[in-house]
Amino acid sequence: MSARIISGVEIAKQIRQELKKEVAELKEKHGVIPGLVTILVGENPASVSYVTAKQRTAHELGFHSIQDNQPEDISEDDLLKLIEKYNNDKDIHGILVQLPLPKHVDESKVLYAISPDKDVDGFHPVNVGKMVIGEPCFLPCTPHGILEMLIRSDVETSGAEVVVVGRSNIVGKPIANLMLQKRPGGNATVTICHTRTKDMTFHTKRADILIVAAGRPKVITADMVKEGVVVIDVGVNRIGKTPEGKAILCGDVDFEAIKEKAAAITPVPGGVGPMTITMLMKNTVQAAKQFAGLA
Ligand code: NAP
Repeated sequence: MSARIISGVEIAKQIRQELKKEVAELKEKHGVIPGLVTILVGENPASVSYVTAKQRTAHELGFHSIQDNQPEDISEDDLLKLIEKYNNDKDIHGILVQLPLPKHVDESKVLYAISPDKDVDGFHPVNVGKMVIGEPCFLPCTPHGILEMLIRSDVETSGAEVVVVGRSNIVGKPIANLMLQKRPGGNATVTICHTRTKDMTFHTKRADILIVAAGRPKVITADMVKEGVVVIDVGVNRIGKTPEGKAILCGDVDFEAIKEKAAAITPVPGGVGPMTITMLMKNTVQAAKQFAGLA
């Protein structure tokens, strides 16, 4: 039997419609317009395309949005001053610094300079700490998007065996943490695998829900999963180019083979990716509401 496809495109569309309505109401009733700045350092093509997509979405939703491009050789000091400027800008509620940053800049220093109230990426230690203890905060966008996908696709997480492949600070660790919390989309029993895991298949085969964020094309094959698993494929791997020069993408799981065994699966592209951008917008609306004392 072929798996149900969990479409991030469709779920993201639904959430964006809800957000568009909320943004219009905020403006009409309270004169509040969510403001988002995306800061891009240099011209890394992948970063340019991510930032462009974020700006396009912000614009479509009716945000006040600024694209701030900085040269590759900007000094760390100047970047910190720029963050401070936006921290003090009352029309900006969300600050996003597109990663990676050039090697001469300390990424952590820059991310930690963002006011936690404007940290719509959810990377500041204050937000990370609040997330871990289950307090309201800005959740990191990709894990937040995965949670929404599971909830809106009626995937039962309570009591489920969840296996996460990958332990990065932006995907693996936070999604594992969110899924064990006592709340909707949580209450799971969670295992985290990484490159030192001894027998990956032993773990992945036990998974009711398998979340893969390894950044390795097709590292999960059909023999590594059980019948009826729900697979969330976070990976985005560029494996070539079309004759027209467009990147060919693939996920971290062998989609074609696994979809014959799984109950549900996310595609790449069109799965987690659109959800990540949408959650950034959701966090920015939340930040604007908090700033205006409406949340
Ligand atoms: P990352 O920082 O490189 O972390 C990858 C993790 O996977 C590491 O913990 C690594 O283990 C583990 N890993 C790598 N190969 C493995 C293997 N063969 N077996 C078991 N574990 C393995 O990557 P990331 O930032 O989390 O991103 C992961 C993927 O998701 C990338 O393809 C990225 O492009 C994609 N991504 C997509 C979105 C989206 O919106 N769709 C957002 C973020 C990331 P060690 O810790 O032991 O090295």
